[in-house]
Amino acid sequence: MGRLDGKVALITGGARGQGAAEARLMVREGAHVMLGDVLDEEGELLAKELGDAAAYLHHDVTSESDWSAIVAATTAQFGGLHVLVNNAGVFLVMPMTMSLEEYMRVVTINQVGTFLGMKAVTETMVGQGSGSIVNISSIAGLRGSPGVVAYTASKFAVRGMTKVAALELAPFGVRVNSVHPGIIETPMLNLLREAAGGDEDLVTARIPVGRIAAAEEVARLVLYLASDDSAYSTGAEFVVDGGMTAQL
Ligand code: NAD
Repeated sequence: MGRLDGKVALITGGARGQGAAEARLMVREGAHVMLGDVLDEEGELLAKELGDAAAYLHHDVTSESDWSAIVAATTAQFGGLHVLVNNAGVFLVMPMTMSLEEYMRVVTINQVGTFLGMKAVTETMVGQGSGSIVNISSIAGLRGSPGVVAYTASKFAVRGMTKVAALELAPFGVRVNSVHPGIIETPMLNLLREAAGGDEDLVTARIPVGRIAAAEEVARLVLYLASDDSAYSTGAEFVVDGGMTAQL
């Protein structure tokens, strides 16, 4: 028995990093998984690796028509949609004097993309009377740090929208929670490494447990939220950060 037997999940930004780790784990636990991303080569390869339980579709989270298409394709191919992981995201280290264009790029993908995703699955999930939406925020959605104004704004927004959606959808059996990872070993981390001038000690210095997490360690938390094990949790914040926000 898998923990997600009979469930269908849609994971955005699923071609690599945490999204790919979540897809591998969910398929192992019995789910069918639709992967969306803008990295078509990586996405197709991962879907092939996962076999009949998975499929890949080009999907830009900022496009409302892409959302309609991927929701329709998921239900047509796998017969339902029970889990949405709004995982796609971009990171940017830049001072607050950045251009409006740069600011909006981050906010449009991380924040507007999450809004469009929740909106796109609502009818299906409310119609079936169940569903779990997992929004990937960050510890940047819990506290401020210099140099990441757009990213922080977008991740605070994801955390806030999660609570609104949870309250609107609770009467219909649909749960919505946010996940707040700390520093996770994925391609995104290279941007933080660059900002630290390649000084690995600087990257790990503020992590109480003293190490960077593997993507699978976030995936296990997402699996819990996707599964019925978390049936009584909604509108909540789930932190996986090796203690980084313990002093808040
Ligand atoms: P990643 O860069 O490996 O993965 C992000 C994925 O999102 C990529 O596959 C990318 O192609 C995709 N993506 C970007 N723009 C997109 C768009 N417009 N439409 C669809 N897909 C798009 O990084 P990751 O660490 O796996 O990031 C996953 C999530 O975790 C992100 O939301 C990120 O902000 C969050 N997060 C990451 C860390 C970390 O340390 N890596 C920490 C906290 C939160």
